Amino acid sequence: MKSYAVNFVSVVVPVYNEEGCLEELISRSLAALEKTGKRYELILVDDGSRDRSVEIMTRAAETHPGQVVACILNRNYGQHSAIMAGFSLVRGDLVITIDADLQNPPEEFPRLVEAAEAGNDVVGTVRQNRKDSLLRTLPSKIVNIAAQRATGVKMHDYGCMLRAYRRHVVEAMKLCNERSTFIPVLGNSFARNTCEIPVGHSERAAGESKYSFFKLINLQFNLLTCMTTFPLRLMTYVGSGLAFFGFLLSIYIIIRRLFDSEDWSAQGVFTLFAIQFIICGVLLIGMGLLGEYIGRIYTDVRARPQFFIESVIGREDEAEKDGE
Ligand code: UDP
Ligand code: MG
Repeated sequence: MKSYAVNFVSVVVPVYNEEGCLEELISRSLAALEKTGKRYELILVDDGSRDRSVEIMTRAAETHPGQVVACILNRNYGQHSAIMAGFSLVRGDLVITIDADLQNPPEEFPRLVEAAEAGNDVVGTVRQNRKDSLLRTLPSKIVNIAAQRATGVKMHDYGCMLRAYRRHVVEAMKLCNERSTFIPVLGNSFARNTCEIPVGHSERAAGESKYSFFKLINLQFNLLTCMTTFPLRLMTYVGSGLAFFGFLLSIYIIIRRLFDSEDWSAQGVFTLFAIQFIICGVLLIGMGLLGEYIGRIYTDVRARPQFFIESVIGREDEAEKDGE
């Protein structure tokens, strides 16, 4: 039987302009990792921050050699690419991801390790009394349902990044050539056993959310199209329904035109216009959706490395490494 014992825990944190939270995050994470009683490392991935984040993490890597690793990307690639960059450096047999903003408490690490040792490949978390606006919670409900269908794994909170993955799941994720990935969904598609544990959730410790309204809309679109082609199929359904309706209507109009007065058909012009508008609208939505998928094909076909690490501090043997 496969052994589920964990010896070495790696924590990966994407950091983008988090100077306000970083010091507290590092000290609390290290304390929590110490409590697990395992070997551990804390990998901080700087995603092109423009504030003091790099300075803080470099200092932490220097004061905690072997325990804290600072990985600096050369520009901003986005949260999930930053995590993938961190994955390329992990040495542990269990990998935990967490956000830098302390919305999820690092104190939960021991519980995540425990749940993984109980025989799970992926340990998800559910945020209790979530402290986010409706703008954040409503779209995430929709995405959750889509993700449940796409991965076949029933998890309630795909948006929560505090998660633990066994090393083999991480290795599988690293082999995926997709550019626009959403780590929790990708991870679940490679997991045999999963479980969820409830965790606390609080307001951001400092700074602002890195997701503006437009970035959020982008993220949701990205998520939906990366998981399923259902919207395309939905278009086909709606399109065929509409075409059939139009066909029936035109037959009706022809019959009225043949057997009724001329007056009636002149008025019918407006009906036709209305139908035309509806069809045009549907076509446009369809084209937009197609564009969405073609955009994905485009970025995947270009097959650029997802990230380039500029430098790694606190690890001698991993000086230069890129996304491939
Ligand atoms: N983040 C990142 N690159 C980005 C945006 C965000 O590395 O382009 C990091 C950010 O530093 C944080 C995590 O991703 O650690 C989640 O970001 P945030 O808390 O702003 O998202 P929210 O909680 O609002 O979903
Ligand atoms: Mg946050």
